[in-house]
Amino acid sequence: MFEHVFTNIDQYQFDELLKRIEKFNKRAEKYQLPHLEYTVLKKEIRKDRDQLAGFYTYDVKVFTKGELKLGDWDIVGVISYELDKPYLSYVSKNFNIHDLPFDPYKVAPRCDHCKKIRRRIKTYILKNVENGEIKIVGSNCLRDFIGHNVNKILGIDKYFEELNIFDNEDFLPKGKGFGTYDAVDTLTLSAVGLFVIDKYGWISITKARNYDLTSTFDRVIAILFSLAQNDDRDEFYQHQDKYQTLAKLAIEDFDDVVNKLNDTPYKRNLSVLKNQHDIPVKGNYIATWLSYLGLWKQHVSEKDRPKNSEYIGNIGDRIRVEVVVTEKRPVKTTYDRFGNLIDLYLVQFKTDEGNIITWFTTAGEKLDKGEKYKISATIKDHKEYKGIKQTVVKNVRILEYL
Ligand SMILES: [Zn+2]
Repeated sequence: MFEHVFTNIDQYQFDELLKRIEKFNKRAEKYQLPHLEYTVLKKEIRKDRDQLAGFYTYDVKVFTKGELKLGDWDIVGVISYELDKPYLSYVSKNFNIHDLPFDPYKVAPRCDHCKKIRRRIKTYILKNVENGEIKIVGSNCLRDFIGHNVNKILGIDKYFEELNIFDNEDFLPKGKGFGTYDAVDTLTLSAVGLFVIDKYGWISITKARNYDLTSTFDRVIAILFSLAQNDDRDEFYQHQDKYQTLAKLAIEDFDDVVNKLNDTPYKRNLSVLKNQHDIPVKGNYIATWLSYLGLWKQHVSEKDRPKNSEYIGNIGDRIRVEVVVTEKRPVKTTYDRFGNLIDLYLVQFKTDEGNIITWFTTAGEKLDKGEKYKISATIKDHKEYKGIKQTVVKNVRILEYL
């Protein structure tokens, strides 16, 4: 029984390993020899310090089930004579070499079948399945010794040679990943995503394209992967704990949010991503997961949507009122009076009575969610949006910071 554990191999090595196993098994199939199987013992993301995304690293066990059987005999070892001294190029996982009636590192290139000692490349150690008797048999005598099954015996030399190819430097643990990031764990991605959504609002890739905005996806990617100085990233690190906590909530709410969706490939993809705890940096997995965060934010805001918002005053009135900023996000880009491209923000305030005031402004940068002010404003319109009565205002002045 062959068994080997590869530790800390990277994604590239893992893919290569699977390719070699597949190739090996095609040959094994042809000669009716035992297949190689594998189990992933560990798959995790290794991160460099200060990085948010990382590289997959795997521990993988590769093994055959059972011994390679020839009639009443198991092949439990292979002695090679390619170097000056004999060495065991294969020994079954289930076999203890101390049970050998000879020293495999000193044994002459003999064959117990033809009784000759001569130059040999390799000999096989066979163990009788009935009585445990041990014999050494040369490659050329295998067929005579066992009889029958020529097909199997033809493949055996190659079989043991190829088992060794898994044991070379291609699969030594790598110090570094392969240049590009493989994955980001779901919690970190969610934390960065929620930070970006909080700061800039949820902006889908389509909306970004149509309104000339920067999408949530692009901003998240810039924070995760750009090696250059990034202000958003610095800001994220300052608030990391808060967003990690929110991210946990978002992941906990997954079923509540996603069960409401129709059964589409999108819904199934989301569920797959949720269950694997990390998000690969390929295909559109990251964008898909971010869209879930958008759904979650919507879910949360629906849960604590103001139900008792009423219109304030009459259109044209100038009002003074104490408010808290409940929402701030860029909705499109526009030009200022000097012809510079700037963001137009939607800002929402809530009064003590729970009434919602909406303001479209290019001064959104200066306000932050959760801040309280006394403002004066002119009522421009009364409008219902998503079932909420909103008082739309213009010419807002901050009279006092509360
Ligand atoms: Zn022989």
